[in-house]
Amino acid sequence: MSEQGVSPTPRNYQLWYTYASGDAPLLNRMIDNCIAHTKKVGDELSERLYLKFFGDTGAHALVQETGQLMHAELDKVIARLHSAESDTTRFGNVLMEYGDDIADLADGDGVKALVSGLARETKEMETKTRSLESELKKSSEEIKKLKANLDAARAESMTDELTGIGNRKQFDCVLKMTTEDATMSHQPLSLVFGDVDHFKKFNDTWGHKLGDHVLKLVAQQMKLLAGERGTPTRYGGEEFAIILPGTPLPDALAFAESLRIAVSKKQMKTKATGVALGHITMSFGVTQYAVGESMDAFVERADSALYAAKAAGRNKVTPADPPQIRAAS
Ligand code: GH3
Ligand code: MG
Ligand code: MG
Repeated sequence: MSEQGVSPTPRNYQLWYTYASGDAPLLNRMIDNCIAHTKKVGDELSERLYLKFFGDTGAHALVQETGQLMHAELDKVIARLHSAESDTTRFGNVLMEYGDDIADLADGDGVKALVSGLARETKEMETKTRSLESELKKSSEEIKKLKANLDAARAESMTDELTGIGNRKQFDCVLKMTTEDATMSHQPLSLVFGDVDHFKKFNDTWGHKLGDHVLKLVAQQMKLLAGERGTPTRYGGEEFAIILPGTPLPDALAFAESLRIAVSKKQMKTKATGVALGHITMSFGVTQYAVGESMDAFVERADSALYAAKAAGRNKVTPADPPQIRAAS
């Protein structure tokens, strides 16, 4: 952090801890990009990244921030106690040495006793300080656990229960973050919308439960193919979205095509009896972000492209009508 000119604040610690842990690949990519292109990351960009990744509204963010601040405060207190403890030790040793010196002098015994007494007191103080330090460390661990719980709750609130991939809330969050980043960095950003074809019929024929399995399978394929390249989410019902930062339209189209093929190749059958359920297909709409446009316009365009894929007969990948794409290469 000091190399990058970043101040040791609680927020920055959280950001850079996440960077060091590698838990948020997108954050790492953004920071690495910045390091590669600018001299130093600095406080201002750290703050912007913090707001992107951890910024939140409402009580939850407040609680999280409070926990973090308490944790940072406790760390500071522990550090201070630690230095107080070594000061006390040093002080005690010095007193002892003086005691020895005084004992060498004539009539020094009385003084030595006095100083030894003082040194004993000092030792006691050192012990007390140490136990206080360990108590505070325990509290700090508790707060760390609390924060981990909050992080887990936050992740859960962004996860779709059925499929385990991101939900609409995550889609909205990531879209906001990535469109802002694309605007800032002029890197390409693409969006793929996919919808299961004739899914109502599948449900009507095979039942809702098997329908749920289809949705899980689609999510699994999306996760598998997207890897680190993007964020697959369940946009709603049997509609899915994948946000692909750093991906220009042709690559996003190729990605959607590989997903379309992977899904259509899956031979569906019931687990228990092995009855063949045939194949399912999906239609896709793909578009690239045009710098400066609203998120709504971006989403709308992907949705229209998806609609066009449906109208063109389904089981297809359709690019959106090119907007005034000014996205940089
Ligand atoms: P199209 O090819 O035009 O997309 O036709 P479709 O039948 O897939 O589209 P439609 O919008 O008519 O129907 C969507 C269906 O998706 C109806 C709804 O019951 C089903 N669906 C939505 N969410 C779930 C879910 O969580 N589980 C299951 N099993 N079905 C779902
Ligand atoms: Mg459908
Ligand atoms: Mg639909």
